Amino acid sequence: MRQITEVEIRASLVNCTKGEVKRLAVPRDLDARPWADLDFLGWQDPASPGRAYLIAEQGDRLVGVALRRATAHAGFVRRSMCSICLTTHTGDGVSLMTARRPGGSGDSVGAYICTDLACSLYLRGKKDAGPGGRMPESLTLEEKIGRTAVNVTEFLQKVTQ
Ligand SMILES: [Zn+2]
Repeated sequence: MRQITEVEIRASLVNCTKGEVKRLAVPRDLDARPWADLDFLGWQDPASPGRAYLIAEQGDRLVGVALRRATAHAGFVRRSMCSICLTTHTGDGVSLMTARRPGGSGDSVGAYICTDLACSLYLRGKKDAGPGGRMPESLTLEEKIGRTAVNVTEFLQKVTQ
């Protein structure tokens, strides 16, 4: 994706109140992010570990959602797969993330997503998910990137529709 600014990030969030948008901690290392290798920008709020954000280009606009991470059950040590990039992690490497839908209905949409939101890097082999993290597939990297973009779009559409 193209490099985006703090102003664009704050303007993209569809499921936050004005106060939340004002207060949210935008990453300080935007200039250092590997934009060319990112399918979306994702980060965890350092001030509030249960909160995370995901922002992606959708056509010619940016759509961002705030996510809440469900706390893992005690003794929860099994493998689970990210629904965005299909990387498998053990333990809390994948979390159930829920996004409140805009409009004040109180509904939310959940998905299992890599806890560190580094899907783009796992996909490209730039971050190691450990043994068995990536299934061998006959798809090309480009096809896997395309599939990830579809998964991100579907998730964002479920939140915003
Ligand atoms: Zn992932």
